[in-house]
Amino acid sequence: MTDVHAHFAEEGYEFPAEWEKIGAAGVKAVILAADTLQHAAWHAAFAAAHGGAYFTVGVHPEFAGMPFAEEDFCALALHEKCVAVGEIGLDYHYGAENRAAQLALFERQLALAEKLALPVQIHSRDACADTLAVLREHGGALGRGFLMHCYSYGRENLGAFAELGGSFSFGGVVCFKNARRAAEAAAVCPADRLLTETDSPYLSPFRGEKNTPANIPAVCRRLAEIRGSSFEEICALTDKNARALFKLS
Ligand SMILES: [Zn+2]
Repeated sequence: MTDVHAHFAEEGYEFPAEWEKIGAAGVKAVILAADTLQHAAWHAAFAAAHGGAYFTVGVHPEFAGMPFAEEDFCALALHEKCVAVGEIGLDYHYGAENRAAQLALFERQLALAEKLALPVQIHSRDACADTLAVLREHGGALGRGFLMHCYSYGRENLGAFAELGGSFSFGGVVCFKNARRAAEAAAVCPADRLLTETDSPYLSPFRGEKNTPANIPAVCRRLAEIRGSSFEEICALTDKNARALFKLS
């Protein structure tokens, strides 16, 4: 099993105990997603010391006002365990007043992904139309594929992202019985585009708990139920898709 999107940097996990728990749960690969270059550097050091850990480099739209140096970005991206640019994208959940800055940051990092020949992990919340417009305009940056992390735009929009080459990861949210839209999207997601994540420490399938990649089996069990498939089939399928998209060694 694979967790394609989790955050460890400065989140207060107890290592090595947490990493052992994750391995014991059967989760053999974890991609640590960056929100800032500082956290990407933290993840790079963790990944260098732990088999099965990988990382991404990128600046989350929440930090659209924060400058970063392209050479720092590229130095991290050239690390052998860096497998994607991300998480990058658009987030209008708390308002779109810095929309221009978010769009500029997103486009700048898509250009970097193209230059670095890396796939992209996209964070997009309450910004479906703008995200699709940017992706359509920057198709050249999507040649290595892209992931809609914690996909939340329902089955009605899934085809538009899939047509552009998108893959989709589902996490703790699908485990909530009232999360109908997420479950419907997970049900119709093409089999070769389906991936699993936790977004740890957020979005635990067990309300009120701190999330961990050790909860990936709960996500796989729920996806199996939604898709009328077996747990083993979902584990094998999502592993294969993660390895193909992110070229995990
Ligand atoms: Zn995240």
